[in-house]
Parts: sequence; C-alpha cells; structure tokens
Amino acid sequence: MKTLLLPSGSAIPVLGQGTWNMGEDPAQRKREIDALRLGMDLGMHLIDTAEMYAEGGAEEVVGAAIHGRRAETFLVSKVYPHNADRRGVQAACERSLRRLGTDYLDLYLLHWRGSVPLAETLEAFEALKQAGKIRDFGVSNFDTDDMQEAGELPGGDSNAVNQVLYNLARRGIEWNLLPWCRARAIPVMAYSPLESSPGEQRRMLGNPHLKSIAERHGASSAQIALAWLLQQENVIVIPKAVDPKHVRENRAAQDIVLTAQDLREIDQAFPPPTRSTPLDMR
Ligand code: NAP
Repeated sequence: MKTLLLPSGSAIPVLGQGTWNMGEDPAQRKREIDALRLGMDLGMHLIDTAEMYAEGGAEEVVGAAIHGRRAETFLVSKVYPHNADRRGVQAACERSLRRLGTDYLDLYLLHWRGSVPLAETLEAFEALKQAGKIRDFGVSNFDTDDMQEAGELPGGDSNAVNQVLYNLARRGIEWNLLPWCRARAIPVMAYSPLESSPGEQRRMLGNPHLKSIAERHGASSAQIALAWLLQQENVIVIPKAVDPKHVRENRAAQDIVLTAQDLREIDQAFPPPTRSTPLDMR
C-alpha cells in the first residue's frame, strides 16, 4: 500500500477504511467485523473511527476486528469537541483505547471545532503524545483560517492531518485549503469519498461521463471516484464499506491509473471550484 509521510515522519497509508454507521445494529456486527478484516487482508490497514460513531459502538467493532492484528493496523479515532478540554481529551482517549482494546492510537483527531480553546486541545493532545497514548494528532473539518490559527499555536506545527469532506462532487477545498495543506506537507484525509447519503451517491456515481470512463477501465463508477482521489497529491481516502464486494472494489481502485483524457472528462463533468467557498461538512 502506498503511504504518505506525516510531519512527524511516520508513514500513513493512502487508502483506508471508514466506520461511520458501524456498531449501530448488533445484527450487522459480524458482517462489519468481517468487512474490516477482509479490508486488512487486502492491504487496507488504516481504519478510521470516532467516539461519536454509534456512541462508541463503532470503536468496539473495530476493536474486535483488529484483535490480534494491532501491529498491522494504523488506527485513527476522534474526540468530540465537547470533550476537547484538557481533562476531557485524556478521559475520552482512555475510553476509546478501552473500546478499541489497544494502548495507543496512531492518530487522534479533533472531530470538529467547538467552544474549547484550540490551544487547550493542542496542549492536551501533546500531553497524550508525551504519555505514549497517541503517536500523532490532527484535526477534522478545519477550514483554511482554522488551520492557520492552529499552526500558529504552541504544538500547532505538529498538527498532522486535516480530515475533510472531499469527493468529485465537492471540490471546494481545491481552491485554497488543499494547496495550503500541500504547501506544508499536511495530508488531507478525504471523508465521504463516495457521498455517503444514498441520494447524493446515486447522483454522483450515476453521472453518465463517470460511467463511460468506468466502462473504459472495466471498473465501477465508485472505483473511478476513488481512483481520482487517490491520484490527487497529498490525499488519503477512507471509504466505508460493509458489503465484501465493495471492500474488494475499493482496494482495487488503487490500481487504476486515470489518463489525462479521463481527468479532462472528469473536470468537465465535475468542475473544479472557480472561487472560494466555505468548507463543506457532513
Ligand atoms: P462513503 O465511504 O463515501 O460511502 C459509504 C457508502 O458507500 C456505504 O453505503 C457503502 O455501502 C457504499 N459503498 C462503499 N464502497 C462502495 C462501492 N465500491 N460501490 C458502491 N457503494 C459503495 O461515506 P462515509 O462513510 O460518510 O465516509 C467514509 C468515512 O469517513 C466514514 O465511514 C468515517 O470513518 C469518515 N467520516 C468522517 C467525517 C468527519 O466529520 N470527520 C464525516 C463523515 C465520514 P456498504 O457499507 O453497504 O458497503
């Protein structure tokens, strides 16, 4: 699996597995665990989760999936903004570690910006790093001005990633956030790469131009959408899939090389931004 380097020098895989909506339904638990394990068998060792997902339920599913396989996993979790004060971060991290059945996270993110001063959250992350509970920390749903502000605070230069909504139909970050992060070698993690809501996903993946590119490659529209993201410099992609056919397809998307002609057609079907817009969020 291809990797990028975090500012700390640690390698992070460019293709991983999301877990939002996992852990909600006990009847789905085995399928979810099997999907994550299949993904790892195929080389997708990065798993993205959060204390928010099923209020800890997703972390428990991940814990079961990585049981006995912690060393091969790159584990990412996130803290709620309302837990992001000095003591709250530490307690939330301990709870996540317990549910995940591990004693460290590879990456711990602030899920979105709340009312706790950023300086306090960064200080708390730094303390967790010193204590060996997390290897790196970063943020999610931060726009360029938030990134700038974080970068100027003590510990801000250790901010390892920004996880944001990015896919073919939502290219706003290409105007300034993505170049800003690239210039500083801070990887961007693209969430909802396939547009998680069924209606929006149908609209994006049903695009006739996307379908014809997919046909040329003998691939699905979803694979082309992922391949396009994987071809972007400095971008990590974390599709969530429970259906084993989807898991296999997503892994195989890394092997698709889009041509200059494909990229031109994609730009026509899903135009890049022509002005600055506020960051899109789920
Ligand atoms: P997504 O990964 O873009 O889409 C997930 C949906 O697409 C599921 O319904 C899945 O179905 C389906 N799917 C997966 N692979 C497919 C394929 N090859 N062909 C057709 N359909 C496919 O959406 P997401 O879950 O919102 O985003 C991915 C991850 O990003 C999340 O799980 C979470 O870890 C993270 N995230 C972070 C934030 C944040 O605020 N930081 C927000 C949203 C998401 P099946 O499950 O049935 O296979």
